[in-house]
Amino acid sequence: MRLAITADHLAKLRQLALQSKPNESCAFLLGKANTDVQVSEIFYVKNADFTPVSFNISADDIILAYKTAEQKSMDVVGIFHSHPAPARPSQTDLRYMEINPVVWLIYSTTQDKFAAWLLDGELQQVDIRA
Ligand SMILES: [Zn+2]
Repeated sequence: MRLAITADHLAKLRQLALQSKPNESCAFLLGKANTDVQVSEIFYVKNADFTPVSFNISADDIILAYKTAEQKSMDVVGIFHSHPAPARPSQTDLRYMEINPVVWLIYSTTQDKFAAWLLDGELQQVDIRA
């Protein structure tokens, strides 16, 4: 499985992450998941935690993201957030990845790098295809 996302969308997420510094930023990725995960749209949400070390999306924002996806005949296919550390899931991320088994796209603001992950029994890195 690969994560298909345009260079433009990656640039927008990178910009969001840099603008939100030092706090973590987050967004939902809307699109379609078949053999590959195709991102068509970014749904921006606030980091309700406002801290550099964690992110938390409010229940209202989560519901709105799923409603918006449904209205556009899309699915929530991924979750994006940024890290002031390597683009690897933290222990907290891993717990939430179990509950939200979609692709997790992480951007490292310290390494200027994206990495995508899926927790399917074990942690797998997902190739990003622009
Ligand atoms: Zn994280």
